[in-house]
Amino acid sequence: MRKTCIALALAAMLPAAHAAFPDRPITLIVPFPAGGPTDIVGRLAAAKAGEILGQQIVVENRTGASGTIGMTATARAKPDGYTVGLATVSTHGTAPHLFPNLAYDPVKDFTPISNLVTSPNILSVYPQFPAKTLADFVAHVRANPNKDGYANAGAGGVNDLGMIWFLQLIGGKMNSISYRGSAPALTDTVGGVVPVIFDNFPSSLPYLKSNHLRALAITGTQRNPRLPDVPTFAEQGYKDYDVTAWYGVVGPADLPADVRDKLAQAFAQAVRDPATAAKMEETGAFPLGNTPAEFGQQIRTESERWKSVIEKAQVKLQ
Ligand code: GLU
Repeated sequence: MRKTCIALALAAMLPAAHAAFPDRPITLIVPFPAGGPTDIVGRLAAAKAGEILGQQIVVENRTGASGTIGMTATARAKPDGYTVGLATVSTHGTAPHLFPNLAYDPVKDFTPISNLVTSPNILSVYPQFPAKTLADFVAHVRANPNKDGYANAGAGGVNDLGMIWFLQLIGGKMNSISYRGSAPALTDTVGGVVPVIFDNFPSSLPYLKSNHLRALAITGTQRNPRLPDVPTFAEQGYKDYDVTAWYGVVGPADLPADVRDKLAQAFAQAVRDPATAAKMEETGAFPLGNTPAEFGQQIRTESERWKSVIEKAQVKLQ
């Protein structure tokens, strides 16, 4: 009886114990390099959410293995809300089905906080590449198996897998050239080292605008207002082919509910803040800022979706 009373009294004190959260800076682990889409979204959201919380949110880039290194660090952090990470479709949707030795379970080892932003993906080529349209590209790839490479932000990540899936659809073969993230992949494509890139839209957009890359097709049901001349895959005949990227804040498993909710509210408010939302939209991404329950459901749905794509296409990492 006495024990129960003490336990109850302690439980009643818990929310009060976190009431001061956050009373020091928070670290946001971004699992891809600076200049890539995860980093762009992470830094914009962290600046505003930090302002809302009254504490700085420091971005730490921990890159490698398609974002899974940074996510392993996030899963292993102390569940106190002072270390969170920016999960992506690669770290939580695709990689778990392709990396046999992955150190985390995308559902059990994390506390979903808020999915901040979604983004289409775009297939682009180096300006000197012979294909001017998606139809040209398909014909070129079919006629030249394994001749060209495509740059992507990590083996087994969404940009690698999105391309593998498309190549399956058209019966083509290309070499996958993987980098630590979009930023280094783009450097090599713009430099003509690897002529093709399948990338999340925000990182490719500046190169497309300056004509250092030529876009052939964008994913999604609608064209993107930032580049309205670029046709979707769907309108060019690939109706069932859709690949969406997203970036959402997660903490380690067992984050206290009050801390989780405080972070979720701050991040959601941040991406909906008109000035921050406008900056996100300028990159071609779509601000979201959903609840922990909604994001948790999305992670499960995305993981199932990619599992079935991977099984159907029989994708294996070399
Ligand atoms: N393509 C990666 C993803 O969506 C992000 C790459 C990057 O931020 O450099 O998971």
